[in-house]
Amino acid sequence: VLLTACTVVTPSGLSVTPSPTTAPTSIPLDEGDGAGFARQRERMVIETIERRGVTDKDVLNAMRAVPRHLFVPEAERDRAYGDYPLPIGYGQTISQPYIVALMTELLGLKEGDKVLEIGTGSGYQAAVLAHISGIEVYTVEIVPELAESAHERLKSLGYTHVHCKQADGYYGWPAYAPFDAIIVTCAAGQVPPPLVKQLAPGGRMVIPVGEPFGVQSLTLVEKDEDGKVRSRSLMPVRFVPLVRKDESSE
Ligand code: SAH
Repeated sequence: VLLTACTVVTPSGLSVTPSPTTAPTSIPLDEGDGAGFARQRERMVIETIERRGVTDKDVLNAMRAVPRHLFVPEAERDRAYGDYPLPIGYGQTISQPYIVALMTELLGLKEGDKVLEIGTGSGYQAAVLAHISGIEVYTVEIVPELAESAHERLKSLGYTHVHCKQADGYYGWPAYAPFDAIIVTCAAGQVPPPLVKQLAPGGRMVIPVGEPFGVQSLTLVEKDEDGKVRSRSLMPVRFVPLVRKDESSE
């Protein structure tokens, strides 16, 4: 969510080359100043995402298509395509665009995959996942107001294959398990065992692991076909914490 340790090179005031070949999303959108935001999105993809090494075409297309400005509070719209996280209320944030793209790429999604997201927040990450063709998205948010508003937003933007639930995501979503991929967008002290259990053989999970208010390790957890689990630390990141309804129950 917040900034990664990698420093970001976004020279302000750089001129932008509009790309008329960028296909708009097939989802009908009320973009407001459509062309302006589309240009900002293109610049965001080129300067903050591709430049840092994200190459997956499906991911880049999704980042080009999803109207991020409609996932942030109105007062933040002008900053929606900047290289940083933004507040979305309730002490939460929408992740920096690069982190959304990187985590999505790390999932290695393929047509037909079922993905579980923990931490719906604004619904932006879920929309990016849903924009990749043939992906079914399940997303869980603990803050009732955010769960409700993200659900409404996703519905109104036409993301019908995103399934939303308000609950403590520590427990995953057993009814729809197993998942081919799991993405956790809040920081956990350890990888929650229920999530490992709900990962399908051959599946991948991306999760920030570490101190709640410090720097965490973006961690890739892979389960092989025999159910053996391997974890790798990839890079330092800073996310809002995964909170529990009752901390003592852990
Ligand atoms: N993916 C979001 C950003 C999420 S910020 C987006 O694209 O906008 C992290 C979110 O995780 C917050 O909304 C926070 O309320 C939620 N969260 C924290 N602990 C949680 C838990 N135990 N279960 C589900 N969601 C949780």
